[in-house]
Amino acid sequence: EAKESGRNAFRFYQQGMQQQVTERALLEKALHSAISNDELYLAYQPQVNENGELIGFEALLRWFNKELGLVPPNRFIPVAEETGLIYDMGNWVLETVCQQLKVWQTMGLPAEFKGVAVNISPHQFAKENFVETVQCVIEAAQIDSDLLDLEITEGMLVENISSVAEKMWRLKEQGIRFSIDDFGTGYSSLRYLQHFPINQLKVDQSFVRDLSCDPKSHVIINTILSMAAHMNVTVLAEGVERLIEKEILSSIGCTTYQGYYFSMPVREDLATEYLRSATIFPLQTESV
Ligand code: C2E
Ligand code: MG
Ligand code: MG
Ligand code: MG
Repeated sequence: EAKESGRNAFRFYQQGMQQQVTERALLEKALHSAISNDELYLAYQPQVNENGELIGFEALLRWFNKELGLVPPNRFIPVAEETGLIYDMGNWVLETVCQQLKVWQTMGLPAEFKGVAVNISPHQFAKENFVETVQCVIEAAQIDSDLLDLEITEGMLVENISSVAEKMWRLKEQGIRFSIDDFGTGYSSLRYLQHFPINQLKVDQSFVRDLSCDPKSHVIINTILSMAAHMNVTVLAEGVERLIEKEILSSIGCTTYQGYYFSMPVREDLATEYLRSATIFPLQTESV
C-alpha cells in the first residue's frame, strides 16, 4: 500500500512537472511576439517628497496577452532574461520612456520633478553596447539625459566591478543618474559602493513593511540613511503602504517615498494628468 501511494505521489509529481514545463513553454512562445503584437505597455508609479509633491516616476513593465491575461513582471522578466528576449524588451522600455519624457519635457515639467526611473536587468547592462544603446535612445528622443534614472541591483555591482564601474561612469558623464534598487537585500558592503557613481539608494520594501513592529528595521534604515549622507546620495523608501510607515520614515529623516499609500502605478494618460495639474499625493478623496 505504501508502495502504491508512493507511485501515485510520483505520478502526481510528474504531472505537476509536466504542467510547469508546458506553462513555461506557452509563456516563452507568447513572449516572443509580445513586442510585435503590441502587448507591452508601461505603468508609471509616482515618487514623492515629504510634501507629497511629484518628484519622479518609476516605469514598470506590463504584459497583457489575450490567452495568458496580465502576466506579472516577476514571472516574465526571468524568462526574458533566460531567452535573451530581455535585450529587445529592455530597449523597448528605454525607447518608450524616452519618447514619453520628450512629450512631458515639451509640455513643461514641475520644478521638483527629476525624471523617470527605468529598471535595468543584469544581462541588459552586461551587453557590450549598453552604453551606446542608451546614448542613442536619448539622442533620438532629444531629451535631457539627467531625466533618466537607471535602476540596477546590488548583485550587479559585485560581479566584474571594473567593467561595471567603467560603464556607469561613462553614462554618468552624460548626466544619467543611477539608483540601487531593493537596497539592503543584496551583498551590501560599504566598501564597493564607493567605486560607483550612485545617486540614490532605494530601501527595499521589506524593511519598510517591518517598520511599525520590528525596532531592528529602524536601525537598518537609520544605518542606510547615515551611510547615504556620507556618500552624498539620496534615499527613497519603496513600498510605503500606510501613513504610519511614512510618518516613521519621515521622523528618522527619510523624505522621499514610493508606494501604494501615495499611488498605484498608473497608465501614461493619468501620469500626464498628474504632471499637468501639480497633483499632491496621496489623492484627497471626498469623504461622504
Ligand atoms: P521593483 O523594481 O522593485 O518595483 C517595485 C515593485 O513593487 C513593483 O512591482 C510595484 O508595482 C510594487 N509596489 C509598488 N508600491 C508597492 C507597495 O506599496 N506595496 C507593495 N507590496 N508593492 C508595491 P511590479 O510592477 O510587479 O514589478 C516587479 C519587479 O519586476 C520590479 O521590482 C522589477 O524588478 C521588475 N521589473 C518591472 N518592470 C521592469 C522592466 O521594465 N525591466 C526590468 N528589467 N525589470 C522590471
Ligand atoms: Mg525598480
Ligand atoms: Mg525595488
Ligand atoms: Mg526589483
